[in-house]
Amino acid sequence: MERTGMKAAAIGLAGLGVAIVAVVALTTPWRVLPAGAAEVTPDPVRDFGAAQIARADAFDAATSAPSYLSLGVSLVIAAVLVATPLGARLIGRLKGPWWLRALIGVAGVYLVSLAIRWPLGMWFETVLRDYGLSTQTWGTWTADRLKNFALQLLLSAVMVVVVIALARRWPRRWWIPASIGAFTLTLALSFLYPIVVEPVFNDFTPLPQGQLRASLLAMADRDGVPVDDVLVADASRRTTALNAYVSGFGATRRIVVYDTLLEVPEPEIELIVAHELGHAKTDDVLHGTLVGALGAAFGACALFVVGNLLRRRTGVPSLGDPKAATLLVGLVSLATLLSGPAQNLVSRHIEGRADAHALQLTEDPATFVAMQRNLAVRNISDLSPTPLEYVLYSSHPTAPQRIAMARSWGLFHGQRVP
Ligand SMILES: [Zn+2]
Repeated sequence: MERTGMKAAAIGLAGLGVAIVAVVALTTPWRVLPAGAAEVTPDPVRDFGAAQIARADAFDAATSAPSYLSLGVSLVIAAVLVATPLGARLIGRLKGPWWLRALIGVAGVYLVSLAIRWPLGMWFETVLRDYGLSTQTWGTWTADRLKNFALQLLLSAVMVVVVIALARRWPRRWWIPASIGAFTLTLALSFLYPIVVEPVFNDFTPLPQGQLRASLLAMADRDGVPVDDVLVADASRRTTALNAYVSGFGATRRIVVYDTLLEVPEPEIELIVAHELGHAKTDDVLHGTLVGALGAAFGACALFVVGNLLRRRTGVPSLGDPKAATLLVGLVSLATLLSGPAQNLVSRHIEGRADAHALQLTEDPATFVAMQRNLAVRNISDLSPTPLEYVLYSSHPTAPQRIAMARSWGLFHGQRVP
């Protein structure tokens, strides 16, 4: 009886896996430069001084330890939850309704993880302050961290309670409603993110009337991207780093620039916004959300298959039992950690396409290079990450790669680039 359930779920899992690989393979812009454009080799030494390179290396070395330790802690906790009966045993001691026991199990895991990673977070924050990147006090830092914790806990708690409830109702078929639910929830969260989550962390105001606003909106108009407004986030309450982004889709789509960005020369701001217009034009957020939603459906299906395979080992009688709560949290956490490198790989190509768009729209590779240099120096970006760092953390091409791309583009279009 149970085997039939597994077989259907395994077929569903394989089908979703093939669909995701096909969609990603066919829609990722693997090559963004026009055919025939000569490749320019990225070279940090060409654009960055020895002192800038040394500073970036030192910052990278200082942040590596707390970053890797935090990642290691997350991996160890997830491994314990999916490979040992510890979680089920602890939940087994609780009394009360099943959903309350499950909730306590989830909250317990999150609290332990938060407590262990807290000093690592303080360590990281101290490095940011040493390098002048953070403008936070310990009070605002703590508030941010707790807000983040609450959001993650809330999402995870809802997910676990819903999965266990579905598993109680349809023990052999719950992966079907769970997959549909995960798909829908991912879509809804991404759509609502700009109006529900972002305001928890920042205040947003329209870019004030003036020359800059007029030229940015004119550029969007020229680009054929409907933009009513450019929003400014009060990022300076947290960081000195420079950034801009697009979030949401449809009615919630918005282009946001950090207030820190407003001090850089206007042509560079225009180039950064031109990159964001590239994301808007190709609907990268919507597209990424759809792929993410397919991934979430795949994940729900995988929870059924892998969860059932690991049940005995972790002392969980059935996935409809509250004892399954910590196993489910561990599996989701592991899946999130393992899917990061694939997401980064795709993201880097999508960022490359947005860069190419910015170059086409502004036809100004020289300012593009100046902007990338400025951004990398201000944000102390890693100019030559190790292969492991690149795979784990680089959602964008490195600054030298982006500069090299602009030089290729310039050469191809007969433009001199410094
Ligand atoms: Zn981008």
